[in-house]
Amino acid sequence: MEKYRIQDDLYEYVNHEWLEQAVIPDDKPTAGGFADLAKEVEENLIADFNEMSEKKQFPNDYLKRAILIYEKIKDVKKRNKDGIRPALKRAKKLLSLKDMNAFNRQLKELLLSDYPLPFGIYNDVDMKETSSHALYVNAPSTILPDVTYYKGEMEEQGKSMLQLWSQVAKQVLSYTKLSEEEIDLFLADTLKFDAIIATLVKSSEENSDYVKSYNPTKTRTVSALMKPVKVRKLVQSLVGEVPSVLIVSDPRFLKGFTTLFNEENFQAYIHWAYVLDILGNTNLLSEELREVGSSYRRALYGIKTISTVEKFAYQTASNFFSEPVGLFYGEKYFGEEAKKDVYDMVDLIINKYKERVKKSEVLSEETKEKAILKLSTMVVKMGYPDKVDPVYDKFFFDEEASIFDIACSLKRIAKEDEFSHYKETPDRGKWVMPGHLVNAAYNPFSNDITFPAAILQAPFYSIHQSRSQNLGGIGAVIGHEISHAFDNNGAQFDENGNLKNWWTKSDYKNFKKKTKDMIKEFDGIQLPWGKVNGTLVVSENIADNGGMAVTLDIMHDIQDSSFEEYFMNWARIWCLKAKDAYRQLLLSIDVHSPTILRANMQPRNFPEWYETFSVTKKDKMYLAPTKRVIIW
Ligand SMILES: [Zn+2]
Repeated sequence: MEKYRIQDDLYEYVNHEWLEQAVIPDDKPTAGGFADLAKEVEENLIADFNEMSEKKQFPNDYLKRAILIYEKIKDVKKRNKDGIRPALKRAKKLLSLKDMNAFNRQLKELLLSDYPLPFGIYNDVDMKETSSHALYVNAPSTILPDVTYYKGEMEEQGKSMLQLWSQVAKQVLSYTKLSEEEIDLFLADTLKFDAIIATLVKSSEENSDYVKSYNPTKTRTVSALMKPVKVRKLVQSLVGEVPSVLIVSDPRFLKGFTTLFNEENFQAYIHWAYVLDILGNTNLLSEELREVGSSYRRALYGIKTISTVEKFAYQTASNFFSEPVGLFYGEKYFGEEAKKDVYDMVDLIINKYKERVKKSEVLSEETKEKAILKLSTMVVKMGYPDKVDPVYDKFFFDEEASIFDIACSLKRIAKEDEFSHYKETPDRGKWVMPGHLVNAAYNPFSNDITFPAAILQAPFYSIHQSRSQNLGGIGAVIGHEISHAFDNNGAQFDENGNLKNWWTKSDYKNFKKKTKDMIKEFDGIQLPWGKVNGTLVVSENIADNGGMAVTLDIMHDIQDSSFEEYFMNWARIWCLKAKDAYRQLLLSIDVHSPTILRANMQPRNFPEWYETFSVTKKDKMYLAPTKRVIIW
C-alpha cells in the first residue's frame, strides 16, 4: 500500500518527497514554496549587485546609492575597527536626559531618530476618511514576541526566553563602558519596565482585529492620560498643528500609561531605552556584534548562523532602497507576456467573484450591490510600480560616514517624510510591497491588491504550467487577496477604503455567524508543535476560503480543467520546512494558519474535493457536510 493517500493527507501526499530531502539553510528559519523563491530572488539580485559594483555601471542613481550601502557593509574591516562606538555615540543621548523636562525638550528629536519611546506616534491614512491623514498613538512592543508569553500556559517558556534575552543583552553590554553593577542595574530596570508594558498592551490575537485599533480620541483627553508627556507640543512640532483628535490604537494601554511612565520610573525608562537601542542596532556594527546581537532572535526563529556578509549587505541595501530594487527586479526578470496573462486572470477572478455575489441566496440586494461596487472599483497593482516613491529622492547620505550613521540618517529621512505628508491627500498610487518580494497583499484603506513580480513564478504561476495548476497556485492567491476585502476586518471598509458599515443588519449578522464557524473549524487543532488559535487566524482563513471558492468555480468553466492538478498545486505552494521553535512562535503571533493546515483544511469545505478524489467518511480529510464552511 502507498504510504500516503491523498484522501488522508493532501499536503504529505504532494510534498513528502520534497519534505524528505529539503534542507533548511543555516541562516534562514524556513525552506519551501515562498522561502525557496525568495532565496532565488536573493541570489539573482546579489549577482546583479556584484556586477554593478565591479563595473561601476548603474541602471539609475537609486541603485548607485544602494550599491554604495552594499559596499559599505561588505567593508568588514572598517566595521570591525569601529566596533560598538557608533552605537554608544548614539545611545549617549539617552543617558544625557536627566529628567522629564529634558525628555520633553528632546522628544521630537528622539521620535524622529527612532529612539525607543514609552509610546509611539505615527502618521497614516485616516481609516474612516481615507482622503486625509491622521496621527495614531500606539504602544511600545514587549521584549517577548507576544504578551501571552508573560502569563498563563506559556509563562514558563516566556521566562526562559527572557533569561536567554538577558544573557544576550549582558554580553552585548559588556562591550560598553558600563561596569558590571551598572549592567545588572540597567538590565533589572529594563525587565521591570518591560513587565509593566506586558500588563498593558494588546496580544497578537487582539491586534488581529485591526478595526478595533481605530479609536478617535480628543487630543485633550490623550494629553491628560499621558500627563508627563507634552503631547500637544510634540504633535505641533511634528505636523505644524494640533489636531483635535488623535487615533488611539490601544485604549487600555493609554489608560494605564502613567503606571508605566512617571517620575518614579523615569530612570527605569532611560535604562530600558538605552539597552533596547544598543541591542536593536548591533547588526550594523562589527561582525562579532552582529553575531552576538542576533543570537536571541536566531534562537527564537531556530536559525543556526548569521547570514554571510554578502547576503547581509544585500538584505540591508535592498531594504533601504526596496522600491527601486523591486523596480529593477521587475524590469529585468518579469516578462510582459506573464504580466498580461496574470492581469487577465485577475479580471476573470474579479468577474467571477461578482457573479457569485450576484447569485448568492443569502445576501440581500442592497448588500450585493455594495459588494459588487467594491469589486468593480478594486485597483490592481501588478509586478512593480512605474515610478518610485519620491521619498527615495531624499535618500542621500554622507558617503564618508560609517554605515551605522548612514542607516540612522536614512531612517530619519523616512520618518520626517512620513510626517511631512500629514496635510496632504494620501497617495493611492503607493505600493505596499516592492517588486522583489515573494508575497501579495490587499490594502483595505485603498481597496487595492498588489502582486509583486517575485511571486509571479512557479509553482505559483508559470506560462509552462497548466491553467488548472496556475489557478490552484497564483489564482487561489489572487482570490485570497480579493477576499481580504470581505474578511472579518476588510468587510468593514467601503469601496473607497473608508471604515463604514455598508451591510444590512441581517446580512452582517449572517456573515458574523459564518466567521465564527471558520474560527471553530480551526480553533484548538493540535499540531506537534502547538495548538492553533482560531481567532488569531480567522481573517486569513476567510481569505483562503474565498480564494478557493472563486477559483474552483472558474475551473468548472474552462475546458480540459483538472481538479487533481488544481488541488495538488494548491498543496505544493504551501510546502514548508521550519524549525519547531519558529513554528511555535508563528502559532502565537502569525495571523496565517500553519501552511500544512492551509493546504489540508480548506479543500474539505468544497464539494469538488470530495468528487475529485472520491473522499468519503472513512478518509481523514473528510468533513461532515454540516460542518463545511463556504463564506463567499
Ligand atoms: Zn492574506
